[in-house]
Amino acid sequence: MASMAPITAPTGTSTQALERIGAHSHIRGLGLDDQLQPKPAAQGLVGQSAARRAAGVVVKLVNDGRIAGRAVILAGPPGTGKTAIAMGVSRELSEDLPFVSLSASEVFSLEMSKTEALTQAFRRAIGVRIKEEKEVVEGEVVEIIVDRSLTGATKTGKLTVKTTDMETVYDLGQKMIDSLQREKVSAGDVIAIDKASGRITKLGRSFTRAREYDAMGSDTRFVQCPEGELQRRKDVVHTVSLHEIDVINSRTQGFLALFAGDTGEIKPELRDQINVKVGEWREEGKADIVPGVLFIDEIHMLDVECFSFLNRALESDLAPLVIMASNRGLTRVRGTRYRSPHGVPIDLLDRALIIQTKPYSAEEIKEILNIRASEEDVDLEQEALSVLTRIGGETSLRYAQLLITTASLAARRRKAARVEVTDVRRVYSLFIDERRSTTYLEEHAREFMG
Ligand code: ATP
Repeated sequence: MASMAPITAPTGTSTQALERIGAHSHIRGLGLDDQLQPKPAAQGLVGQSAARRAAGVVVKLVNDGRIAGRAVILAGPPGTGKTAIAMGVSRELSEDLPFVSLSASEVFSLEMSKTEALTQAFRRAIGVRIKEEKEVVEGEVVEIIVDRSLTGATKTGKLTVKTTDMETVYDLGQKMIDSLQREKVSAGDVIAIDKASGRITKLGRSFTRAREYDAMGSDTRFVQCPEGELQRRKDVVHTVSLHEIDVINSRTQGFLALFAGDTGEIKPELRDQINVKVGEWREEGKADIVPGVLFIDEIHMLDVECFSFLNRALESDLAPLVIMASNRGLTRVRGTRYRSPHGVPIDLLDRALIIQTKPYSAEEIKEILNIRASEEDVDLEQEALSVLTRIGGETSLRYAQLLITTASLAARRRKAARVEVTDVRRVYSLFIDERRSTTYLEEHAREFMG
C-alpha cells in the first residue's frame, strides 16, 4: 500500500447529525445532580432511578479513564428505556460524541462479513476531533438586519444578512475573508459586499456612501459590523468518525459511498495506515481521539463468533464505550448449545457492568408521554393524556407515543389545535398494537400464508 494517496480527513461533517434518533430526541443527559443522584425528572429522563444512578457511575468511570476492556449491559423488559439511558450516557459524556445504534440482527443482514459489520460500527463510534488552523474571520462579525430604507433605496423591505455561522462566510468565499482582512474592517464599519464576487469594500462608519452605491443600482449588500472585536479564528474543530476517514481514503469506495450508505468492506491494511496517521495527527496536536458510544440492541441475536470479536475489540486502545441491551433472561448463546443470561457468553458477562431497568408506574408513563408531546409540539387535552397513559400501561410506551403523533394528525385534519380523546380513539382503532395484532392473526390464521 506504499503507493496510496496521502490520507485525508473529511472536513465540515458532523457525525452527530447522522446519529440523531428521533424517538429519543428529548433525552439531553441522565438528569443527575452534583452527587450523581438522579432527579425525579430531568434532562428528558423520568424515573428509572437505580438504572440512572448506575449509568452515572459508568460516565464517571469513562471520564476517569477506568472503563477499558469493559462493557455495559442494560437488561430489562421492552420499552423500559434501555436505549434512552444509553443515549443519556452519551449526551452526558459530550455533546459532539458519536452515538451509534445498531440492532444485533443488522450484523447478519448486511452484505459483508459479521466481523466487518462490527468493525465498521466500532469505528463509526470513534470520533476524531480535527483541529485546523484557518486564517478566517470570526462568524459573529456580521449578523445584521439592514433595513433598505437606511441606505435610501427606493425599494423598501428588509435585507437580511446572516453571517453568524462560518458556513455563510465560507459561502461568500475566501475572497470575502481576504478582503475583510485587507480592508482592516472593524466593528461599527459599514461594508459593501459584492454579491457576485464576495469582494468587500469598507465604506466608513455611516451609510452615506452606501446610498451612493445603491443609487447606482449595484448588486451589493450593505452591512454594518456590530459591536465587538473582529477576531481571526485560528482553530476550526470538527468531529468526524474513524469510519468516515476509512471510507474517504478507500480507493474502491471513495467518499461518495458515504452518501450512498453502502461502504462495502474496507481493507485491514488501510485501517492500519489510518490508525498510524491519526496517531501522528494526535502527537502533532492536530487531532484528538474521542471514543463515543456504540449501542447494540437485541444482544441475544449475536452469535458466539461476534462475541469473541467483541471480547477482543474491547481490549483495543481505540474502543468506544460499548453498551448492549437485552430483554431476554436465560437463553441459548447463538451458535452453541449453552444457555446463559441474556444469551451472552460467560467470559463477556464477566467483564460487563449489568444495569437493570424496570417497568414504569402509571405516573411515570404519563410524565414520559407528556414530555414526548411537548417535544413533538402536540397540545394534549388532559383526558386524552390519561387515555394514552392507560394504553401505554396496557400495551407499550412506544405504541402510546406513536398514537400521540398519529392523533395529532387526526386533530389537524379536523382543524383542531388540541388533541382530544376522540382523536386518540380514532387512531387507536386504525393502528393496532402488538397484542391485538397477535390475537387477530391467531383468530384468522388460516387466511394468512405462512
Ligand atoms: P426495547 O427493549 O424494546 O428496545 P427500550 O428498553 O430500549 O426498548 P426505549 O426505546 O428506550 O426502550 O423506550 C421507548 C420510548 O420511551 C423511547 O422513545 C424512549 O426515549 C422513551 N423513554 C423510555 N424510558 C424513558 C424515561 N425513563 N424517560 C424518558 N423517556 C423514556
